[in-house]
Amino acid sequence: MTKLRAYFDHNATAPVRPEAAAAIARALMLTGNPSSVHAEGRRARHMVEEARAHVAALVHAKPAEIVFTSCGTEAANLALHSAKSALGIERLIVSAIEHDCVRASAAALGLPVTELPVDTCGVADLSVLAKLLEAPGKALVALMLANNETGAVQPIAEAAVLTHHAGGLLLVDAVQAAGRMSVEFDGLGADMLFVSAHKIGGPQGAGALVVRTGLAFEPLIRGGGQEARRRAGTENVAALAGFGVAARLAREDVHEMSRLADLRDALEHALREVAPDLVIFGEDAPRLANTSLFAASGLDAETLIMALDLDGLAVSSGSACSSGKVARSHVLAAMKVDDELAKATIRVSLGSGNTREEVDRLVASWSRVLKRTRDKMKSAKTGADASALAEVEH
Ligand code: PLP
Repeated sequence: MTKLRAYFDHNATAPVRPEAAAAIARALMLTGNPSSVHAEGRRARHMVEEARAHVAALVHAKPAEIVFTSCGTEAANLALHSAKSALGIERLIVSAIEHDCVRASAAALGLPVTELPVDTCGVADLSVLAKLLEAPGKALVALMLANNETGAVQPIAEAAVLTHHAGGLLLVDAVQAAGRMSVEFDGLGADMLFVSAHKIGGPQGAGALVVRTGLAFEPLIRGGGQEARRRAGTENVAALAGFGVAARLAREDVHEMSRLADLRDALEHALREVAPDLVIFGEDAPRLANTSLFAASGLDAETLIMALDLDGLAVSSGSACSSGKVARSHVLAAMKVDDELAKATIRVSLGSGNTREEVDRLVASWSRVLKRTRDKMKSAKTGADASALAEVEH
């Protein structure tokens, strides 16, 4: 009999909302290129524009500020490319906890990159930012709104003030924040911001870059005049229809976050009862309600994840965007977490489907693995002590 599955990896990808899946299926059954002027084309255009309005509403931006892309990663690449080509950016200041889509794209841009450090809670150090901004050269600062591993929320509005005061521009990755906290494009003071459909119950393979009205822009993908000449290529109408519905529902769902915060707190409390030495990363920082990143010494995250998986529980060891690759987390490294503890760390990211009963199952399974591991460590230590004693007695 297959075990009942419980999914705790919403930060990697959230389940597609049934309403979004239905919108995708409906759109796929219709023919029409949104650039065509006939009725079929106009219907497809209507779906794209409806989605644009919903995505804009989710982040409190204007529909005309939304540029649809194929994913969050493309949006990050597009933003950085445009910053260099159209905005006269001469250098980049990239926070140490940015997602690889920003880090790798920044590294490949051919401009000097300076890393903005974070404190041990995983929050960007604004006093260092102020110093870094004093250096010559127009800077683009990349700082995410909420981190995908810890959930730590970053002081974006304050960073925007510092950045603008120094004549720089601010790029904000809101991929994890959207739908999990209020995202106000204008209120935050971001110049560009991006989101991704599959973190909010839309399909994988759709994203959006929000570009402040009036900001000069240079496309990365050239061809037709789609997306107001900012991103060529026939729009993925079905995916965008799903993205739009997911954005609408995510906005209506924000109240769900207080239930998830209670669930997350119950999880952390129960884990700490079992292991008083539990370390919860970013615990003292403002955090997304759905995210918990934690470790107990002695555990091995890879083995732990496999054991939990066998018990029907899906969790991850941190950023799962490049799953399969088990690399040391650059986020934990930036927070100065030692290697042993980093290796024991797993991430639980909750979503609206999760229940208290599922959390209890997770705690029970995690506790079993911890007990097994620590019993083994104890008997290995007892064995080592006994043989050391025998050696002395000889
Ligand atoms: N930014 C963050 C914080 C993410 O967590 C992810 C995906 O995990 C991305 C960007 C990339 O988004 P996408 O998967 O749509 O390329």
